[in-house]
Formats: sequence, structure tokens, C-alpha cells
Amino acid sequence: YQAKRDRTGVEVYESKRDSNTPDRLGLLGDLRRALDAHEVELHYQPKVRFDGQVAGLEALVRWVHPERGRVPPDEFIAIAESSGLMPHLTEYVLETALGQVARWRSQGLFVPVAVNVSPRDVHTPGFAGSVAARLARHGVPAGALQLEITEHVLLEDPTRAADTLAALTGHGVKMSLDDFGTGYSSLVHLRRLPVSELKIDRSFVARLAVDAEDAEIVRCTVDLAHSLGLLVVAEGVEDDETWERLRDLRCDAVQGWLVAAAMPPEETTAWLRARGSRGWQRPKAALPAAE
Ligand code: C2E
Ligand code: MG
Ligand code: MG
Ligand code: MG
Repeated sequence: YQAKRDRTGVEVYESKRDSNTPDRLGLLGDLRRALDAHEVELHYQPKVRFDGQVAGLEALVRWVHPERGRVPPDEFIAIAESSGLMPHLTEYVLETALGQVARWRSQGLFVPVAVNVSPRDVHTPGFAGSVAARLARHGVPAGALQLEITEHVLLEDPTRAADTLAALTGHGVKMSLDDFGTGYSSLVHLRRLPVSELKIDRSFVARLAVDAEDAEIVRCTVDLAHSLGLLVVAEGVEDDETWERLRDLRCDAVQGWLVAAAMPPEETTAWLRARGSRGWQRPKAALPAAE
């Protein structure tokens, strides 16, 4: 493998993209062990509304390999998916996230958490029932959990996927459609998936303020989603100008480094407490207009 350093100086693992290199198999074994040893962590990134209220948190998995350094989720999730380890990883993530939600609730912090699930999970028999059982075991109401899916769930056996998703929403779990606009986006999918939220992919949001076409795509997506009764979240909001454009386009909530990057649990607790009922305020808006 090759390692390089990211902006923060942390070593980042980069694999060559071929499927079954010994390196990939090594990483798979390491991931299996890391899950058993609880070395994989969840960080949490806020989704905030334009009035600053925290709409929820997204749980994002973090793995620091003892020798290789930080392995980006995109990298090891692909490995977990192609190897059959995905259901195990998802169980781990759900278990960790629900434990954290229960802890926050016991501390008076009633914030919903979104967990990413892969198409593989949605096609695992009994998935909806196992999620419901896990919620009950943690004493967490279904409304405090959101599952982020992508349109890829409909690629294989769309009928069964739709049944599983319907069962989940029947239990009261909210579904969010992630990465909208990439790949297979179509109106058919939007009609077929029982989602209550749509997340516009970062690739359209990033250049929104400077690219007229991206702005138009975002505008149409927001309008379409609203006409279907869905909430719209923009991912990857990094600057003030993008925030303002999204607010003008009537997007419902944003997620991104402008507000906060994904944070470890204790830092998230502190972040939530510091915002209190006022919610998040834009730094610029809180300062006087003078330079
Ligand atoms: P995603 O679900 O679309 O998550 C959003 C990604 O954008 C996260 O990357 C997040 O850290 C990053 N991000 C958030 N705000 C900004 C921003 O302002 N600028 C930029 N440049 N990036 C931002 P991350 O954590 O590396 O995760 C990548 C992907 O890996 C996720 O995309 C999701 O598809 C997958 N993933 C992460 N955790 C899990 C998990 O627990 N289970 C599954 N199945 N997939 C996961
Ligand atoms: Mg997501
Ligand atoms: Mg996304
Ligand atoms: Mg994404």
C-alpha cells in the first residue's frame, strides 16, 4: 500500500483499486479484528436548519489502523461490501450509535441520529426486524433513528428492497436518500423509495456559489423534493456564501465543515451543550459588520 499525509498530518491509507490483492485481504482481516476489538469508532456530524436548530447528527465510521493510520471509510466500506463483512459492520455501527443515542437521551440531549446503511444490508433477510429489536433493546424510540440509503438499493431485487424499507418505515424509522444526483438518480426511484428526506450530494453543493449549472440543479432538486413532501439537506457546505445560496433556494438543512466536521462522541456532547436551545449561529452573523 501507499501512505500519504493529509492536511492534518495524519497518515492516510491509499490502496490500489484492484479487488483481491493480498493488501486488500490483509485490510479485510484487520477490519474484522478491529471490529471485534472495538477499534472502529463513530464520529458525529450535525445537520442544522437555517434557524440554527440542530435537526440531527450523522454517524460516520472512523478507523485508525495501528500501522497504516487513518483508513478512509470509502476505502474499507467497499472492502466490507465485497467481502460479506458489511452486515457485521452495520450491526456494529447501529449498536454503537443506538448506545450513544440512549446515553444522550439519559443526559437530556434528544437528538436524532442517522446511520448509513449499504444496499447489502437492505437485502439481508430480517434486517428490518433486527433494527426494530435493537431499538427496543436500547429503549430508543424509532423516531430517533434515521437510516441513510442510496438509490443503489434498487439495483438488485427492487421489490424486496422496497418491502424492507416499507417495514422499517412501518416501525417508525425515518429514511433518507443520500448522495442524490450521483449515478442512478431518477424520478422512478424517488417515487418508489419511502424516504422522508433527500440529501443533495456534495459534488453539486461544492461549487454552487460559482457554477450556474450546479445552482440550477440544486434549485430543481429542492423544488422537486418539496413537491413530493420531502425535506432537503445539502451536504458538504463549507462556506458562508454557499449557506446563503442554499437558504435562498429554500433548502431545509445543511451539513458541512462550515458548521462542524464529524466529531468524536465527547466533543459532540460538548458541541450540543454549548449550542443549547439557541442552536448553531454562523460565526459571521454573530460578529459586527465592521472589519
Ligand atoms: P456520506 O454518507 O455521503 O457522508 C458524507 C461525507 O462527507 C463524510 O465523509 C463526511 O465526513 C464528508 N463531509 C461532510 N462535510 C463535508 C464538507 O463540508 N466538505 C467535505 N469535503 N466533506 C464533507 P466520510 O466520513 O469520509 O464518509 C464517506 C462515505 O462513507 C459516506 O458518505 C458514506 O457513504 C460512507 N460511510 C461512512 N460511515 C459509514 C457507515 O457507518 N456505514 C456505511 N455503510 N457507510 C458509511
Ligand atoms: Mg450519509
Ligand atoms: Mg452523502
Ligand atoms: Mg457522499
